[in-house]
Amino acid sequence: MKIICIGRNYTEHAAELNNPVPKEPVVFLKPETAIKLPKLPFFLPDFSEDVHYELEVVVRINRLGKNIQEQFAHKYYEELSVGIDFTARDLQNELKQKGLPWEKAKGFDSSAVVGHFIAKSKFNSVQDIPFSLEKNGTTVQQGNTKDMLFGIDQIISHISKYFTLKIGDLIYTGTPSGVGKVVAGDVLSGYLDGVKSFEFAVK
Ligand code: ZN
Repeated sequence: MKIICIGRNYTEHAAELNNPVPKEPVVFLKPETAIKLPKLPFFLPDFSEDVHYELEVVVRINRLGKNIQEQFAHKYYEELSVGIDFTARDLQNELKQKGLPWEKAKGFDSSAVVGHFIAKSKFNSVQDIPFSLEKNGTTVQQGNTKDMLFGIDQIISHISKYFTLKIGDLIYTGTPSGVGKVVAGDVLSGYLDGVKSFEFAVK
């Protein structure tokens, strides 16, 4: 199983980090060990002073595929969830400045949170789903999949040119604006279409 993440997929988030709007999806991977176990809190890593949440819609692949055409991409997933792409922003900035890969800042243990999955048939359109994050009971980030630069089917088609997709692979589809720092004691709750998908504490 692998975790494939899309960067800069919402214009306003690209702008808040002073990144250009991309012409094709920005893609990076996290290892399988990045998955946070649902019952555990998120433990802040000791190598960062600035860990950010990035709330993202997550797609689970349910069919083996390579070179998937966009018009058939919808056949490769049945369920969606919402999750967090935790990012050690200070380390990421350091690596970006040096032109080095981001993996240490993005792929560390427990950096991939994922909530409960919901069948896509429950939604009128996968490209019109609101999602939001509460921190200590206050909404801190919200988005809608209709604002993606590259839609889910486009993303699946693009990444399957490079990586064979396997059953169980997760795709993090990018974060809207409103990313921010977490500190010990915070409680984060994620909502997909108004339904709570996950909740955990930061330690
Ligand atoms: Zn992200």
